[in-house]
Amino acid sequence: MGYYLILDIGGTKTTTVLFDEKGDPVTGFNVAASRTYEGEDAVFENTVTEAYKTIKEAGISVADIAAIGVAAPGPLDYRTGLIIDVPMMGWKNFPLGQRLRDEFHVPVYVENDGNLGALAESNVGVAKGKEVVLYQTISTGCGGGIAYNGKILHGHSGFSGEFGHVSINFAGPKCGCGGNGCFELYASGTALNKRMIRDIENGIRSQAFDAIGYDPQRVSGKILTDAAEKGDSYAIGMLRQEGMYIGAGLSNLINIFDPDVIVLAGGIAKAHKWFFEDMMCEIQRRACFEYSKDRILISELNDKVVAYGAYVMAKKAISGEEF
Ligand SMILES: [Zn+2]
Repeated sequence: MGYYLILDIGGTKTTTVLFDEKGDPVTGFNVAASRTYEGEDAVFENTVTEAYKTIKEAGISVADIAAIGVAAPGPLDYRTGLIIDVPMMGWKNFPLGQRLRDEFHVPVYVENDGNLGALAESNVGVAKGKEVVLYQTISTGCGGGIAYNGKILHGHSGFSGEFGHVSINFAGPKCGCGGNGCFELYASGTALNKRMIRDIENGIRSQAFDAIGYDPQRVSGKILTDAAEKGDSYAIGMLRQEGMYIGAGLSNLINIFDPDVIVLAGGIAKAHKWFFEDMMCEIQRRACFEYSKDRILISELNDKVVAYGAYVMAKKAISGEEF
């Protein structure tokens, strides 16, 4: 019986979990700070320490592990596990896969979180069995991934699915990627927070801001949904506008892929009841053909989706299947 050690290394936190052969987690989804910005070895050492803790929790030894599945920020080379350039981790050409192989002496597979989200949803999530599955996170940033017949569509170099950097405004603000008006600059939680800070500075009154004493440091999606529940018109308007931005972004993807389904995940996606209708209006206005609302699904794996994707990847790879 082989176990699968799953490491989901994110910008702020690292999740570690062990899955059994059948795909059931046998430990908790253990979350620790990633020690980002402490240098390239700090993040790695932190990951290894957390891995050993989880192995101990399960009461197994390293010899019982069939493979390790890793989710990491991209860009990365999924064929070798080389991380190409992630400034926040201090990783530039960092051989994450090889370092983990040297440490644990088992097969290691590394992919970016957006691709793993698509893999998870199309194999064990709400899009299970669907042919063309797009995965879109709306969180701090806006990641994406494409699955075709249950496999990741990697593209030539493994970099496909950068939906956050599809432009929705030719003359929009400059993005870190080099483009202008990228989807992420409008629809992400970061962008939503910026709009709230601007509104606090402009003296806008709202129950959302009452809740945080008009402190710009404390804005979040949650203050909007809480205030929307109380009928606050500013909060409802902001969430409806969010729906318009998301719809504009998704309509581009729909026109290109005509996907069976799009799965939305991430913190902002949880507020879907407030933005879904406006999102659909925008999609219907912009898409070249009818796209029904039951083809946009909300992830049920939520915060665990990437870890499940890393499990599916490792399991497929060990079974000799493409992922
Ligand atoms: Zn961009």
